[in-house]
Amino acid sequence: MNLDIEIDDNSFRLRARAWLRANLGVTSSDNIRHGGQTARKTATQWLAKCHAAGWSGVAWPREFGGQGLSPARLIIWYEEYTRARAPSALDCTFVGLNHAGPTLIACGSDTQKSFHLPRILSGKSIWCQGFSEPGSGSDLASLKTTGKVEDDMLVVNGQKIWSTCADLADYQELLIRTEPGSKRHRGLSWVICDMTLPGITVRPIENMAGVSHFAEVFYDDVRIPLSNVVGALHDGWNVAMTTLGFERKTAAIALQLELSVTVEDLITSAQAQPGTALSEQLADLRAEAAALRAMTYRAVLRDGGTPFDGSLIRLTFAELAQRIHRTAIDTLGAEALLDGPMVHDYLESYSETIAGGTAEIQRNIIAERILGLPREPRA
Ligand SMILES: Cc1cc2nc3c(=O)[nH]c(=O)nc-3n(C[C@H](O)[C@H](O)[C@H](O)COP(=O)(O)OP(=O)(O)OC[C@H]3O[C@@H](n4cnc5c(N)ncnc54)[C@H](O)[C@@H]3O)c2cc1C
Repeated sequence: MNLDIEIDDNSFRLRARAWLRANLGVTSSDNIRHGGQTARKTATQWLAKCHAAGWSGVAWPREFGGQGLSPARLIIWYEEYTRARAPSALDCTFVGLNHAGPTLIACGSDTQKSFHLPRILSGKSIWCQGFSEPGSGSDLASLKTTGKVEDDMLVVNGQKIWSTCADLADYQELLIRTEPGSKRHRGLSWVICDMTLPGITVRPIENMAGVSHFAEVFYDDVRIPLSNVVGALHDGWNVAMTTLGFERKTAAIALQLELSVTVEDLITSAQAQPGTALSEQLADLRAEAAALRAMTYRAVLRDGGTPFDGSLIRLTFAELAQRIHRTAIDTLGAEALLDGPMVHDYLESYSETIAGGTAEIQRNIIAERILGLPREPRA
């Protein structure tokens, strides 16, 4: 069975390919992989270059500075982007471009849009996400960080955790409890938090790959203007679901295509070592990567697909990524341990079945919402 979907728009494809070839230069993904200020500089310089040529925010509507690409052209752009080995889309610009910006477009005020959207598109401001708290990850509605309304300000106290790039970010998508005494998903607000405000402490957390991509963030009487609330005050749950919808769907096309490139690289390096015992495994991975691509393209091309395609795609991606990076290590054997980027990617892949909703949570959604199985008991 041929799972490759051919999208016929050759003139656009050649235009994208030519621009990438002429502009990629020495931009290196390695800088981005290790995080820190160097990663921010590399990622934002690259985004500024894309922006100047009209290739930033390709999926955003034109009226907000994007390219307004059709779903088919969006796929072509990402195909060419990953084939050209452009910097990984999962850098510090990811949150701004792929979910903070789109959330502001969907739910923000005109003032919020006109201030923030151009800065996100040009790489002038970096965003992070402050949803998870200790004890409130999968069960996000149990979050406890509060924002007390005092005149025209919110006074925020509490703690967030696992906030990716919080140490580099200028702004945060902050989800807090603003209605005193409210429970679960009621009484929350989605707020734009300026990360330079007094009372904010960011403490990076090192992961098992030895890098600090994420951080704990503490809020001690942080005063945020009420005008920074996105959507209505106390209606943050609906805004957060909009954000998660963007995070779990089209935002990840580039990451999935990167997986296909990794599989093809593995096949090439295995071919250079005659006698490798992994050919069956590699053939399976190639087929699975093609199946994931087909599933994603179908969801994107079918006018956004169903609201739950994101969980199917996210789960398939996460588990496949782990198998691919494990096979990469097997392909090279003991020598793999000397390959810094390969070991790094292998260790990082463990986080795939946790970030953006764990594999168990995605399975619950698929079971209940797609297969119609009984709901698990709710607290
Ligand atoms: C690399 C990475 C980047 C991240 N970036 C961000 C970020 O930028 N911003 C942010 O806000 N958060 C971020 N997160 C946090 C992420 O969203 C949470 O880790 C995730 O939602 C899980 O929450 P938790 O860690 O509290 O685990 P828990 O929710 O405590 O889960 C612990 C275990 O219990 C299982 N479990 C929990 N509930 C159920 C259930 N109902 N049914 C079956 N099993 C269940 C889980 O699957 C898991 O195995 C990031 C996480 C990672 C790994």
